[in-house]
Amino acid sequence: IMTTKEVLFKRASKVIPGGVNSPVRSFKSVGSTPFFTTKGEGAYIYDQDNNKYIDYVGSWGPLILGHAYPEVITAVQEQATLGLTYGTATELEILLAEKVLDIMPNIEKIRFVSSGTEATMSAIRLARGYTKRDKIIKFTGCYHGHADHLLVAAGSGALTLGVPSSAGVPESFTEHTLLAEYNNIENVKELFDNYKDKIAAIIIEPVPGNMNLIVPHDDFLSKLRELCDANNTLLIFDEVMSGFRVSLGGAQKLYNVKPDLTTLGKVIGGGMPVGAIGGRADIMDNFAPLGKVYQAGTLSGNPIAMRAGLVTLDILSQKDFFKKIQNQTEKLVSGINEIAQKYNIKMYAKSLGTMFGLYFTENKNIKFYSDIINSDIDSFNKFFKAMLNNGVYFAPSAYEAGFVSIMHDDIVIKNTLEAIDEVFSAY
Ligand code: PMP
Repeated sequence: IMTTKEVLFKRASKVIPGGVNSPVRSFKSVGSTPFFTTKGEGAYIYDQDNNKYIDYVGSWGPLILGHAYPEVITAVQEQATLGLTYGTATELEILLAEKVLDIMPNIEKIRFVSSGTEATMSAIRLARGYTKRDKIIKFTGCYHGHADHLLVAAGSGALTLGVPSSAGVPESFTEHTLLAEYNNIENVKELFDNYKDKIAAIIIEPVPGNMNLIVPHDDFLSKLRELCDANNTLLIFDEVMSGFRVSLGGAQKLYNVKPDLTTLGKVIGGGMPVGAIGGRADIMDNFAPLGKVYQAGTLSGNPIAMRAGLVTLDILSQKDFFKKIQNQTEKLVSGINEIAQKYNIKMYAKSLGTMFGLYFTENKNIKFYSDIINSDIDSFNKFFKAMLNNGVYFAPSAYEAGFVSIMHDDIVIKNTLEAIDEVFSAY
């Protein structure tokens, strides 16, 4: 006898490759069948059978106000009655641009797109157009969306020369993408030595959230800044995930390091499809129609998405609002650590701002991507399934960070910790 979700997954798989529109949703990496969401409400997400889960994914980051936050929904509804898209300039775009400039310390001009992928793709084109150089440095384990030249994995042997990590990407499309190890400054120095005056930009998740949550060690980010300055290379912070999350002003504010360009997404759209490229005005003005770097989009700056983003950022930037979410995140993490210790489970949790990581390992000094690869993925998968059975939805992959929202109040955290206690007591 098939469960409802299995029936739905079978139907989905007949008409959609793998049954999903983004691979991680398939729950394949945790060896499970995905649920089919019908509703989100505050800290909760509901499935096809009306099961209710505490949600620590939050649509992979955007939902920092939780699901269906009333002011955001009202704004979207109001705006929808005025038409869904115009393909013309609107004042809403100016308002959101001004708001982001207020919050993010190193953005002088900004252009809106509809996804994080578009943002990083355009940022790299801009960096190449501005510097008139071709090479870029990317870090293994950092994810910047699915543009061809960013789908690169470490080749056999040397770390530095990447190979396409996806079928369908010609090797010639990735030949200008150089790879380094996150938190390994010597690696980056070598690349600058080997490719003198050839490197247009470094693109980095300043706080990676796509290889679990990893933080920079030993002033890694400011050392990158110095290397970029010495080599006339641009520094691109991909803050699609860390922006408005590790601190309100992102990693650049938290670590006080100045990127030339910043890419944003997720929270900036409040749950609607938005991405953005921002940075130094003299660089940004190289975008068409002023400059020679082409960049465009039919639905870019979509009025409903702008409204949703604006309301979200307005609320998020109210005094002490961010701090409140950060406190809840810290409560969650310290609670998890207490329970893991109580039952002697080889795992721990750590947070930064409103993001957190779950590490199934005894290694307390996670620094490199390899530290995550070497953690106990099977144990994580077991934990994921048991938690889902107990009404808590964590990201269905050991390589993803977790997200907390303003709706994760004390009761939600307490219920989460009780579920974890139950799972670990029988682990
Ligand atoms: N950059 C980072 C750091 C991301 O985490 C993501 C998505 N998880 C992207 C870019 C791509 O964004 P999108 O999925 O909206 O294309």
